[in-house]
Parts: sequence; C-alpha cells; structure tokens
Amino acid sequence: MITAYIGLGSNLGNRQDNINNALRMLAEVQDIEVVHVSELIETAPLAQADQPKYLNAVAELKTTLSPDDLLKTLVNIETMLGRMRLEKWSSRTIDLDILLYGSEVIDSPHLTIPHPQMHLRSFVLDGLCQLNGDVLHPVIKESANELARRLNGCDFVRNHDLPQVVSIAGVIGVGKTTLAKKLSSRLGCQMLPEPYDTNPFMPEVYAGKKELALDSQLYFLTARVEQLNHNLLGKGRIYISDYIFDKELIYSRQTLTPEQLTLYDKIYQSSNSKVTAPVLVIYLIDSPKNCLERIHKRNRPYEQKIELQFLKNLDAEYRQLFANWKICPVIRKQTSELDYTKDDNIEHLANQIKYYVMIEDNKNVLVK
Ligand code: ATP
Ligand code: CA
Ligand code: CA
Repeated sequence: MITAYIGLGSNLGNRQDNINNALRMLAEVQDIEVVHVSELIETAPLAQADQPKYLNAVAELKTTLSPDDLLKTLVNIETMLGRMRLEKWSSRTIDLDILLYGSEVIDSPHLTIPHPQMHLRSFVLDGLCQLNGDVLHPVIKESANELARRLNGCDFVRNHDLPQVVSIAGVIGVGKTTLAKKLSSRLGCQMLPEPYDTNPFMPEVYAGKKELALDSQLYFLTARVEQLNHNLLGKGRIYISDYIFDKELIYSRQTLTPEQLTLYDKIYQSSNSKVTAPVLVIYLIDSPKNCLERIHKRNRPYEQKIELQFLKNLDAEYRQLFANWKICPVIRKQTSELDYTKDDNIEHLANQIKYYVMIEDNKNVLVK
C-alpha cells in the first residue's frame, strides 16, 4: 500500500457536494482507502479573478494502484461529476490532482509527481499540513510545514516571461554576498552584486556626516533601479542578487530625517514600478551580535563604526518586512546552519532555487 495525497477543488455547482461525492466515489474504488480528509478551505481563483471562488481540500489515500491508474481513476471521477475541460484553469465542478505518491518523483508527458505547483499553493499545503505536516516533498526535500511557512498564506503563479530574480536578504554582516557568489557559480547564472564600495557618500555618512545621508540613499536607489530594471534583464533568466530592493526603505528609515524621508519615499515609490520583483527570497538570519563580529572580521574601514543597536534595528525591520511579505516565497535560513564550506548545503539550496524559479526551456525542472 502506498500513501498518496490528492488535492480536490470545485468552483461550480454545489461545491461541497461535489467534493463529498468525489470522496465517496474514491472510497468506493476497491484499491483505494480514503484515510483522512482536511477541512474545506475557500480560496480565490488563481488566474481569472471573475471566476467564482473555490472550495479546496486535501485527502490522504492508501492505494495499491499505480500512479497512472490512480490518475485514470481520478479523471473518470471528474468526468462522472460533470467536469468539462475547456481552457486552462477554467471553472470546474471538480478537479482532482495527485499531489504526492509515496516519495516517488515522476515526470512523464501526462503525469508529474509531486504536483508541479503544490509548493506554490497555500490552499494545497495548508490542507496537507492538517493531515501530515512532516511529510517530505521528494524533490525539494523539505517538510510540508516548512513549505507552507515559506508562502505566508499566499498562492503564487510562475511566469517564465519575467526575469527570475532571486534576492538574498538580511542584516549587514549576515553573509549575503558569500552565499550569492556560491549560488550563482553553482547555478551558472549571473550575480547582481550590491555596489557597496562605489557609493562616494557612504564612507562619509558612516564617519558621522549625517547631512549626506540623503545623497547616499539616493545614490543607492539609482544604482539598484539601474541594476534591477526589467527592461535590461533577460526574460526567463535566473539572477541572484545579494540584496533586496526593499532594504532601501529600511535603511532610509534608519538614517534620514523625517523631512528627507518624505522626499525619499516619493522618489522610491515612483522607482518601484521599474524594478523587477524577486520570484524567491532567501532570508538569512543571525543574531545582530554575530553579524557585528563578522563586520569586524571582514574589516571594511567605514563599516567599523557600525553599532550593535543599528544592527538590532535593522534586524527588527527585516523581520517585520518578511512577516508581511506577499510577493514571493521566502526561504529562511539561519546562517549558523549554512556552513558554506559544505558543498552539500549549497547544492541543496541551489536545487531548491531551480525548482522554485521558472526557466523557459525547463518548465517542470526536476532535480534528481
Ligand atoms: P493545475 O495542474 O495547475 O492544478 P489543472 O488541475 O486545472 O491545473 P487540468 O486541466 O486538470 O489542470 O490537468 C491538465 C493535465 O495535467 C491532465 O491532463 C493530466 O494529465 C496532467 N497532470 C500532470 N500531472 C498531474 C498530477 N500530478 N495530477 C493530476 N493531473 C496531472
Ligand atoms: Ca489543479
Ligand atoms: Ca487537475
């Protein structure tokens, strides 16, 4: 007997009846036992906003059917319950997807397991967590609980027509640049490095010339808008940046006077539309004290005046930013767990990135 997880969805007719009927029909199949069913979750449609809302659920099955035969059974039940296949993601009486089948990884023309979008959908992961939060995604090799946490309650749709920017975020000294270099070399993709040493104002600001703080922030803003301008980045190509654009507001709140901040904020907001949003964030976390130690070790002269309280403030701001983040999935990593000298750690992270981003010639990247 294999344990499989099935996603159920309905947004036409009596949605609850449709889901219950599908579950009843599944239970009637000789080779299937329905073990547990999650609560029903109501969700907004993924694509067309004018569609009715969905009811979704996840069921745990035990089955002796092969993955192909299980899929055939699901399609039969969909047909019996009046499912019409019109355009992609059109409204339907019932949709039955195979999410997981044991720990098998399958990539055939008509069947992909794990379901290729499940790690981007809270309505799937939240249901799955109710049944078994510890179950491992066999490609990403993380638990359902961890995958759900990364989405912050959101559902994401990938778009391979956009540049695939992966941003590494976190307090100064947490290890962003080192990680970005390792990942971009492992993935063979371009790194977008923060030009920290070309800002002519920054050393003076760190040295106490607070009146140059606005100049310094505007310098950074301009440099980042140039670097992340979506017209200049290649569609469907992966980029790793060692910063997140939103840090500019965090730093400005720390360094500018209220009057300067009002002006800066206006310029920031109008620049925002030109900037490519990340498709994935890797948020590195360490204690402000450890970050300060690293800053002392790497010994960039102007950074040596940074005080612990400044790092504590940044840390609080980053936590707040990602507590409310709805733009893309966020992978949180404690720097202490990420021993950069261990290639396995970098490879695990690089493989996850490949699976989260959308590359044109690689629609369902399966990392073996
Ligand atoms: P999505 O896959 O994004 O949830 P959908 O469920 O609306 O979209 P369908 O029109 O129901 O997509 O299915 C399209 C095809 O997907 C089916 O013909 C089926 O062969 C294939 N398919 C591939 N992998 C799976 C899977 N794990 N479970 C169900 N169908 C799958
Ligand atoms: Ca589906
Ligand atoms: Ca389906």
